[in-house]
This record gives sequence, structure tokens and C-alpha cells, in this order.
Amino acid sequence: MDFLPIFLDLKAQPCLVVGGGDIAARKASLLLDADGAVTVVSPELSSQMAQYVKEGRVEHLETTFDIPHLEGMRVVIAATDDRAVNELVSKECQSRSIPVNVVDNPDLCSFIMPSIIDRSPVQIAVSTGGSSPVLARILRARLESTIPAAYGRLASMVNGFRDKVKARFDDVNSRRNFWEGVLQGDVAELVFAGKDEQAEKELELAVKNGDSSKVGEVYLIGGGPGDPDLLTFRALRLMQQADVIVHDRLISKEVLNLTRRDADRIYVGKERDQHTVPQDQINQLLVDLAKEGKRVCRLKGGDPFVFGRGGEEIETLSENGVNFQVVPGITAALGTSAYAGIPLTHRDYSQSVVFVTGHLKDGSTDLNWKGLAQPNQTIVFYMGLKGLPTICKKLMENGLPEDLPIALVQQATTPRQRVFTGTLSTITNDISGQEIKPPTLIIVGNVVKLHDRLNWFRSEMQIAKGEG
Ligand code: SAH
Repeated sequence: MDFLPIFLDLKAQPCLVVGGGDIAARKASLLLDADGAVTVVSPELSSQMAQYVKEGRVEHLETTFDIPHLEGMRVVIAATDDRAVNELVSKECQSRSIPVNVVDNPDLCSFIMPSIIDRSPVQIAVSTGGSSPVLARILRARLESTIPAAYGRLASMVNGFRDKVKARFDDVNSRRNFWEGVLQGDVAELVFAGKDEQAEKELELAVKNGDSSKVGEVYLIGGGPGDPDLLTFRALRLMQQADVIVHDRLISKEVLNLTRRDADRIYVGKERDQHTVPQDQINQLLVDLAKEGKRVCRLKGGDPFVFGRGGEEIETLSENGVNFQVVPGITAALGTSAYAGIPLTHRDYSQSVVFVTGHLKDGSTDLNWKGLAQPNQTIVFYMGLKGLPTICKKLMENGLPEDLPIALVQQATTPRQRVFTGTLSTITNDISGQEIKPPTLIIVGNVVKLHDRLNWFRSEMQIAKGEG
């Protein structure tokens, strides 16, 4: 180990920053975060540093560095662009045993600054010993994404319970078991979901009962349109924590692969027109699993509240007193729009957008075609592939021009994405003979014209077929 990581208490301690530029200001800001008493010595200041001085948070010595400035300092950071000054600061500090950091000069440092993930009071410091600050930053980004921002609040809350837990359990093992249950279970999840009060009550109860074992919960998670990169951090974390995954046909295998390896997987797939498992049975299944104490991930394509029947599922949960949380996902319209280069609104073409189901019962009577067929409006049809001829016919009958562009996007955001474009009057013919696979989204409107120019994503399928 080249360096010993330590966490320094700098409250009200004199700290010196040599240099007044932007980098110096960033370092000063870190010292301020730790409540250090910061002095900056520099003839000139960047606007940020000048702001700190103006606010009275930093004291300014408007001069060049001189050795007496080190008097009484607990920590010194040099961030000047003058190598000779940096060397002087380093040498004088080291001879006085004052910890010194010279920005971007590991050879002049007696301590180095880590990349910090701040979830106060939880702090994670990452260092590569100065060998690659960029790598440290990349590692930091990875950790940032997997450690919920609410960890700090969780830590503060459990801190208040330490004595009670100590009094309740006299041996170390049962204490550890208890805390593991709390920090990986319901209490933690409640804090992450912003329900701090309820979390505190549950923790209180768990201490009283001497048992932190988890009760079941359902996470209704939007798995996005297919590309696993489009999951939210929260979705990923809960997917990796759940004991059971209940998923349907829309979930891509790439996304499913990110769930916990040893979790049970239950497929309740929905084929068009024939629901493999009827909705009320799915609703009941979720209730039963949660009541067995399981953490259930109900994984749905896109967003659970956009044509996803997510509302019905959690209504049943709520009626049965089962805890749940909902995690939004990128809905197919947004994923498709981005990956096919078709903005849904555009100053020149479209001032509004509607999402509508193209799953037409008995022909078409239940859609408000007049309302849909408005000028300067983009229409996105979910589940519309089978009804395509009717959709085009009805839109034209209700006043949309027959040369209005329309796009069909198959399996958007995945390696199997394909885009077909045409006009309301031609598309049905244009695609005849093509084998178009579900799920497919339909976009109608002049914005489709932009596809040719803005089509940045080339899927494997498009490349193989020589399209796009
Ligand atoms: N809750 C989902 C929609 C479920 S309805 C969401 O928010 O996206 C199912 C319809 O969504 C499909 O018929 C298709 O029209 C559309 N869809 C879902 N994923 C898609 C994808 N990757 N590419 C194209 N369309 C998709």
C-alpha cells in the first residue's frame, strides 16, 4: 500500500490554498465542505474564488506566496501554474510536517486527494495512488450509480438506533444479523423510496421484536424498450435485489440477464390477443408472492404506467395491504424516437404529440379519430401493427393528407431494430412481403421526414439488411 487512506477532521482547522484559479477554487470548495477555515493566497482570483471571499467563507491574502503564510496551517494545497512556487510550498511544508498536496504533481505531494462519493455521513474515497486520476473518476462514476443517494440518510437514521440495538442484543453475531436485515431489507428500501418516517417506525418495531427479517414487497419496474443501458439506476438495483422476477414478453433477454442470477423467474408473457396468464391471476400472483415474504420484481416493458396495466396490478396490491414501489422506465415512444432519429415534437413540424393504442376492438369505433387527425401533431400508436391498414384509412378519412409520412419501428433500441417509412397511402403496400416482428411502434407526422438526416443508430439488423 503506497498510501494510507484516512479521513481527516478539519472542522475549524486552518487550511491554506495557494493559487486563486478555478482548480484552486474546487479544492477550496472541498475544504469548505469539510468545514475547514480556508485562507487563499494569490494576487488574483477566479470568479468562483472571488465569490467565496465575497461571501466571507474564504479569507484572502492578496499577495504571492511567502513562507510565513504556513504558520499554524493543518493542511496546504498548492494549485498554481508556477512550478517554482509549487516546489517551494511542497518543500517548506514537508520540512514542517504539514500535509501538502500539489495538484497534478504526485512527486511534490505528501498526501493525495481521492475521488469522493459523498453520501454523508457515508463517504467513499477512491484512489489509484496518483497513477490515473481518470480511472479513479471512472470507478467513482460506477460507484455513484450503484449506491443510492439516500445512503446518507439511512446511515444517519441507523446511527440513532445503535444504543438501543446494543441493549437489545448482547452478542455480536445477533447484532450483526439484525443490522444486515435492516440495511438490506424493508427499512433501507423505505428510506430509498423517501418514506423515512415509515422506515423509522419499522426499525423501531424490529428492535422491539428483535427481528429484522424482511416482509415482502413488490417493485413494479419499467424495464425500458430493450436496450439495457436505458434502465434507471433504481431499476437495476432493485432487479438485482429481488428474490423473484415476474416478467412478460416485452422484456428483452439483455435486460432479463441483469436480474439476480439466483432469483426465481416467472414468465407471465402476453401474446397479442391471448394473454398467457390472465391479468387477475398475475395480480393475485404478486400478492401471494409478497405475502410469502418475497421481494418481487414485476418487470414490465417500457414504462409500467403507459399501456402497461401497471395501475391495475398495484391496485390489487394496495387492496391487499402489500408494500410496493413504482420505478418509471423509458416508454417505447421515447426509446423509438431517440433511436430512430424521429423527434416527437419539432418547431417546424409538430407542436403536440399523442400516445394512443392501436389495438382496435371490433374495427375502430372506440378511437377519437377527429381528435387524432389534427395538423401539426405527431401520433404514436402502440400495438398498432395489425391494425395498420385501418389506422391509415381512418386518419385519411378524417382529413390527414395521404402523403403524410409514417414510420414503423420494429424492436426499437435493440440490435434487431428496423425502421420502415412511407406515407399514409403507401405504407401498407410498401411493407407487404416484409416480415415485421413485434413489438413495433408506429409514428405518424411530418417529424418522420427528419429520420433520414437524424438516424444515428445502426442496429445489427439494419447493417445486415443494408438499411439506413
Ligand atoms: N408499457 C410499454 C408499452 C406496452 S404496450 C411501454 O411503455 O413502452 C406494447 C406495445 O409497445 C407494442 O405493441 C409496441 O407498439 C410498443 N413497444 C414496446 N417496446 C417496443 C420496442 N422496443 N420497439 C417498438 N415498439 C415497442
